[in-house]
Formats: sequence, structure tokens, C-alpha cells
Amino acid sequence: MRRFEKSHKLDHVSYDVRGPVLEEAERMQENGISILKLNTGNPAPFGFEAPNEIIRDLIMNVRHSEGYSDSKGIFSARKAIEQYYQLLKFPNLSINDIYTGNGVSELITMSMQALCNNGDEVLVPMPDYPLWTASVSLAGGNPVHYICDEESEWYPDIADIRSKITAKTKAIVLINPNNPTGSVYPKEILEQIVEIAREFELMIFSDEIYDRLVMDDYKHIPIATLAPDCFVVTFGGLSKSHRVAGFRVGWMVLTGKKSIAKDYIEGLNMLASMRLCSNVLSQQIVQTALGGIQSVDELLLPGGRIYEQREFVYKAVNDIPGLSAVKPKAAFYMFPKIDTKKFNITNDEQFVLDFLHEHHVLMVHGGGFNWLKPDHFRIVYLPNLDDLKLTMDKMRTFLATYRQK
Ligand code: PLP
Repeated sequence: MRRFEKSHKLDHVSYDVRGPVLEEAERMQENGISILKLNTGNPAPFGFEAPNEIIRDLIMNVRHSEGYSDSKGIFSARKAIEQYYQLLKFPNLSINDIYTGNGVSELITMSMQALCNNGDEVLVPMPDYPLWTASVSLAGGNPVHYICDEESEWYPDIADIRSKITAKTKAIVLINPNNPTGSVYPKEILEQIVEIAREFELMIFSDEIYDRLVMDDYKHIPIATLAPDCFVVTFGGLSKSHRVAGFRVGWMVLTGKKSIAKDYIEGLNMLASMRLCSNVLSQQIVQTALGGIQSVDELLLPGGRIYEQREFVYKAVNDIPGLSAVKPKAAFYMFPKIDTKKFNITNDEQFVLDFLHEHHVLMVHGGGFNWLKPDHFRIVYLPNLDDLKLTMDKMRTFLATYRQK
């Protein structure tokens, strides 16, 4: 009998943030067990509401959004995005260089589909937001992982990047601010990456969806502003800063030396028109979202939810024997290290499964972020303080006896 199997294009593609561990959590839920799901960075279910003016915009624009838009997006959205980046001093940017997408996710996939021939290499951070690795693989390219160094605030290891460049390397991906580490890269690191891109003629893809979610006195510097002579694609969106992940609204902007990327841009244009356009109703909120007072700022200051939740989790993790973590500077993730010798751990997926089975909290193992050693996992610190306290108490209890004789 004929069997229908998935295509070989998917042989090396994985996306564990919603993968086997989530499937197990869903099986448990079907059996009536209630699970606290900390596997995705989805603010709304944790009580982070979208600003009212955005919801109002959406309602007012329903009637005007029934038709398709231009493939790159509606004028008001793209103009607002252009102005946002002009104020940040993005070089050589016009409205034509802006594409809206159904979330950044769609544009990540599209940007890699337009880029990779079979065997082309793309430098991707390790750990990464795994859609990047998956999208390079799906496009036929080889993701080559460069290390972000936990000992240096999770910054990209410049020597490691250099050592991994070959004749096949076409591009470098940055995730800044970073998921899953919460790192924000300083100018010196970004300048060295630009230098490498110049020297080896690499395209730069910079995922900056968390650019507004930076805490303390750290400052997010968009790499595009340091690289007017390189071709840079920057990604942004409203899922996190405006707590509307479900509306699916993101964008990418092309800057710098576009003259060297004419053919690639033609490819992008074709892919953008093949999907017709992104959700038009969601595009209607971009202008309002990017202007005026930004309500996310309040969440990031002392007394604000994200700030206080980070402070709590950071302290709680480092107080548990066998766990340690670098303090995140941005976003709402932490990537703690587990003392694998103490707990005799060789499989990080098993570690998060054991915690799920015993304490009904779902987290993602480091391997889900393409981290090679079985010694990390990711905490999403979006739940309120009560739930976070409960979670950290459970983790402390769990590790007090876990795999210890
Ligand atoms: N990029 C990073 C680094 C992310 O963490 C996420 C979502 O978690 C995305 C992109 C996807 O964002 P969107 O909702 O815009 O598709």
C-alpha cells in the first residue's frame, strides 16, 4: 500500500519549541492534568493586554481591510515603519525597502528561501531562536552555528565566527536582543561582526523583534546603523512589544548597499507576491503602534511586571543548588545552566520531560535552541509572580533529589 511520507526537504528541519515536549504536555492535558506552559514567548495568555488604542484601531478598520493589499503592505504601515527606522538612522532606507509579513516568522522563512542554494552556509547563533536554523535547512542551506559565550554575557564569540567561515558562507544571522538568552550586544561586538561581513562579503540578517524590550541602562543598537556599506536585512514586529502575537504582524527592512543584492531583492519580491500580502487588518495597527507613548516601557522599569518578574526569577534560579544563570538584559527569557555532573544528566529533553511529568510545568530544553550540550533549558518569565514563585519552588523541590543517589 502506498504511504504518504513527509518530503525530504524536512529531513533536517526541527522546531522543538512546539515539538515533542509540547506533544507530551498536550497528552497530559487530555488526561485532565493542568499544565503551566512556559514553552513560548506569548505575552497575552499571561495577562499582558494589548494597548486599547490598538484594539480600537483594529475594530475601526475592519471594513477597510476586506481586500488584499500591495504585496509589500499598506502605505500607512510601511510609512510608519520607514519613519521608525529613519529616526534610528538606518542608512539608505526608503519605503520600497519595507515588507510586512504575517509575523516575523513568515519573513524569516521567506528571506532564507530567497537566499539559499543547496549547500550554501549561513552562520546562525547557538543558542538560537530555532526558526532560523529550521528556515536555513528548509531552504536547502546548511546552518553553521557560531557560539554565543555564556562566560561573556552570552555575546557572540568573534573568533568562533571567523573560524567557521568557508567559501560557501553567504550570510550571518544575529538575534539581538536575544532569545533565549536575553543578551543585548554592545557596539564593540557589533562592529566586529560588521567587519567580518565586510571582509568576507556576507549578508547580515538581524532579528530585532525585542528591540523595545530592553531593561536597565542597556541600549539596543541596530547593526544596520553600523553597516551602511553592507547589505542588511532587519526584522521587527509587534508580537512582543505590543502583546499581539496572535495578530501576526511583523516586517523586514532592507538597508545599506542594496546595489549588490538586486537579484536577491527580485527573489524576495517574487516570494512576497506569491503569498499575495500579509493580513491587512493587522497591518492597520502598525501606524498607531509605532507612534506616541509606548506602554511597554512601563513594564520594563522597576515596579513593572517584566522587570520584577526577571528580578525574581534571576535570584530564584541562582539560589537553587545546581543551577546558575546570566542575568537577561532584555526580552522575557532566561537560559539557565544545569550542573550536569551533580544531576548525572546526559539528555536535556529527558530533564524537561521529567520536570513536566513530576510538576506539570512545560519548559524547553537547550537542544531545542540548537545548544549542543545537554546542560541548559529556557525559562519564559511571563507568568505573574505567584505562578513564577510556584514554578521555582517546584524546580527547587525537583532538583533536591533529582537523579542523586
Ligand atoms: N524572532 C524571535 C527571536 C522570536 O523570539 C520570535 C518569537 O518568539 C519570532 C521571531 C517570531 O515572531 P512573530 O510572532 O513576529 O512571528
